Amino acid sequence: MAKKSEKDVVGKATEVTVKATEKADKGKAAGEKYVFLFGGEGTEGDASMKNSLGGKGANLAEMSRLGLPVPAGFTITTECCNAYFALGGQFPEGLKKQVMTALAEVERLMGRKYGDAENPLLVSCRSGARQSMPGMMDTVLNIGLSTTTIPGLIAKTNNERFVWDSYRRLIMMYADVVMEKAEGIEPYDGKGIRRILDEMLDQYKYIKDCKADTDLTAEDLKTLAHAFKRRIKEVLGTEFPDDPMQQLWGGIGAVFKSWVGKKAVSYRRIEGIPENWGTAVNVQTMVFGNMGDSSATGVAFTRNPATGQNLFFGEWLLNAQGEDVVAGIRTPSPLNNATKTDQNRDMKSMEDMMPATYKELDAIRLRLEKHYRDMQDIEFTVEEGKLYMLQCRTGKRGGKAAVTMALDMLDDGLINETDAVLRVNPNQVMEFLLPIIEPKLEAKSQWLLKGLPAGPGSACGEIVFTSADVVRATRMGKKVILVREETNPEDVEGMRDAVGVLTARGGMTSHAALVARGWGKSCIVGASEMQVDAPNKTLKVGDKTLREGALITMNGSAGTVYEGALRLVEPTAGEDYAEFLRFMSIVDKLRTMGVRANADTAVDARKARSFGAEGIGLFRMEHMFYGEGSAKPLFLLRKMILCITVADRVAVLKELFPYMKNDIKGTMEAMDEFPVTIRLLDPPLHEFLPHSQLGRLELSKALGIAEDEVRKRVDALQENNPMMGHRGVRLSVTYPEMTEYQARAIFESAAELIRDGKKVIPEIMVPITCDVRELRHTKEIVERVYAEVVRRFDLKKLKYKLGTMIEIPRAALLADQMAADAEFFSFGTNDLTQLTFGFSRDDIGSFMSAYLDQRILAADPFQTIDQSGVGALIEMATLKGRAVRPDLKVGICGEQGGDPASVEFCYKTGLTYVSCSAFRVPVARVAAAQAAIKAAKQ
Ligand code: ADP
Ligand code: MG
Ligand code: MG
Repeated sequence: MAKKSEKDVVGKATEVTVKATEKADKGKAAGEKYVFLFGGEGTEGDASMKNSLGGKGANLAEMSRLGLPVPAGFTITTECCNAYFALGGQFPEGLKKQVMTALAEVERLMGRKYGDAENPLLVSCRSGARQSMPGMMDTVLNIGLSTTTIPGLIAKTNNERFVWDSYRRLIMMYADVVMEKAEGIEPYDGKGIRRILDEMLDQYKYIKDCKADTDLTAEDLKTLAHAFKRRIKEVLGTEFPDDPMQQLWGGIGAVFKSWVGKKAVSYRRIEGIPENWGTAVNVQTMVFGNMGDSSATGVAFTRNPATGQNLFFGEWLLNAQGEDVVAGIRTPSPLNNATKTDQNRDMKSMEDMMPATYKELDAIRLRLEKHYRDMQDIEFTVEEGKLYMLQCRTGKRGGKAAVTMALDMLDDGLINETDAVLRVNPNQVMEFLLPIIEPKLEAKSQWLLKGLPAGPGSACGEIVFTSADVVRATRMGKKVILVREETNPEDVEGMRDAVGVLTARGGMTSHAALVARGWGKSCIVGASEMQVDAPNKTLKVGDKTLREGALITMNGSAGTVYEGALRLVEPTAGEDYAEFLRFMSIVDKLRTMGVRANADTAVDARKARSFGAEGIGLFRMEHMFYGEGSAKPLFLLRKMILCITVADRVAVLKELFPYMKNDIKGTMEAMDEFPVTIRLLDPPLHEFLPHSQLGRLELSKALGIAEDEVRKRVDALQENNPMMGHRGVRLSVTYPEMTEYQARAIFESAAELIRDGKKVIPEIMVPITCDVRELRHTKEIVERVYAEVVRRFDLKKLKYKLGTMIEIPRAALLADQMAADAEFFSFGTNDLTQLTFGFSRDDIGSFMSAYLDQRILAADPFQTIDQSGVGALIEMATLKGRAVRPDLKVGICGEQGGDPASVEFCYKTGLTYVSCSAFRVPVARVAAAQAAIKAAKQ
């Protein structure tokens, strides 16, 4: 296996190389343009050229075109980067000349000369791919300082300290990026040159009793620079280059090479960024924020990225270079007074210290937002009172902020409703519904355990190890988290009462995950580093042991568990929620596909409705055997399973009847005119068999048969492969009386509600069918009961629909036949995925992560629809079904119904609706609207 994947990687790499070589050759022939100027009137690129110039280069060009103060420079294209690799790490022909021409133009614009002894120009070499890869690639500042240029710059600036400070920075960055990383030198002991030099700096500061870098004098910095150079020679074996041209080309090559650096490669793998995009290099005139107290540097967002508030938000440092703010070497101050917090109240804002420059920057902020029509993330530097713009890009933001900004910009006429809806990542709207760990606190905390993020939101509580302990503790008013090896239906009561659920085993569609997600309950599954010792009520992680009652905090959206209690904050109702509702009303205006919820009780149905569900896509009959009040019906079910004669079974069914009716009626009443799809019983029998002696004893009493006989019957019912066993419609075939009673419960509930003036239309759904004859068999029973109920209630108005789930590939293959008797299809994508892949959904934990790591699968098909395989079945079944029955309603009710990519797929395939757990209904609504908008744009 390992060998094969290795070969694959090599194969792919050669492919890229070959393609790039072809391009490079073509480039040579056509004299491809590799270099684009920016900064002055001769700016050649613009924002649309991200693919060639990278995000940074394209936006530097765009800002130049807007007439903003951008230090002049040029961008070397990503195509050149590919050509460089195709040539085995050599610059393609013609590049040298293009760079020299561009450099001459920059020199002309800036009135300085690169490498000049009297009036030297310094530059930075900055990386920049199409998509921002924060901190993954390298940048070198202050290139061009050497024994010839240093005296000139000192004379010109009359600022010796600044020049030596810039030089020691150049040495540190250059040694790290160009001389070590780009040369592929693996530092001894994992301690790279950067760390060695940093330690020298710290030591020097300690000896000199300096607190900040700014306390070092020119003499100190000069001494350090020389010491650095000696040390570099010792450690790396090469001399720090003193020739400005050598420095420049070293910088350019190193930025290219940083594209294949370790960090960048693994980041691309995670983010799915193609290898052959390449990075651009931006060579840009240096401007200096470290020239004294009229100089500064900073980063800012045109609006607050955490709250969305329309206030200029950022950080700045006096007398510093850009890297200082980002690297967190010094604590930056807030940009303005309006955004100060309790922590930084005493620090001086730029607004106070440099009021005129701040005003200028604020004007640029407005200008940029107007131009890009979105929040921007910017970098700037002030050199002796003069402001320069060094970067801008669309800023990342949290969910609430995304909604707030979209609505504000809509109100200001900056964007229209379509744009507003597209601005919010569908998953982000969940943030409006769930409690979260106080973000700053979480950022500072180290997690104890990591698992799969199965149920969203955060929870904090004492750990307990059994469902019964949860119930007991909750009664005493405690908040507890249920910790299990894995959960089963008997844990449901505990799961419901617990504030969170944590399991060592299981995947994203394991029992615990499904249940928790449906409730919007914080849940982490598959935290495999944890050893659960339920009998002794302890859990172990490494050599750490936590006992019952220990406090933990879990972030179900990230899959992280923390020791102790971290503060949780409620996504407050009130203002935020009102904003959410307004946003969702715009979403619904642009949405065409229906969104329903999976819910089994009146309470859940009401919740689903409040989240905007337009019906129930999946009501499961067997829900009455789980959770609160399930003891009696569960006992009856067990009894029924063990019955041998029809008469005995009917007797039990009569007892079960009121339980069936209860929730059906409540749910239909809650949804009123919206449709409710009720799935006939599909209980996995193995989950319900009595395995304990006590359970068997109880049943033996109830049935009046010997315990031994009970054991025999249980053994006889044992299945080797229960997922493919005696379940679903198969039960209807073997025990028609079961279907009969279910149909009666549904029709009686509907009839009673209609009699009371409600407008309900039940949709009866048959599970796990593989042949139309199974459906016909069930339909005959349903029709018979329907006639009986209509007669009894004298109700002609009672209408219903009968349809089937499509969960078995054979049913999809024969969908035209199924549609002859089914009025609707609902794709049960959990089982359909299981049976199409042949992956047992309860056992994927042991191999899925390897499949994902090795990119055999791009995503877990139980979370997002496998569009090429399972999706092909869905598409085919929909087409075949509608060919026979044009008005066939088609929906999906698997877990993927709340996954944005799956929702988009369902829209494209022409599904009537998607159905998902109540908490994901808003996500599905946004995703459905976005799918419609995107389709209309094409
Ligand atoms: P990153 O992509 O990691 O932010 P950048 O290329 O933006 O890397 O550069 C790192 C820091 O150096 C930034 O703060 C940037 O503003 C600053 N910087 C880059 N080039 C220059 C320059 N020519 N003059 C002044 N500061 C610069
Ligand atoms: Mg940057
Ligand atoms: Mg199923």
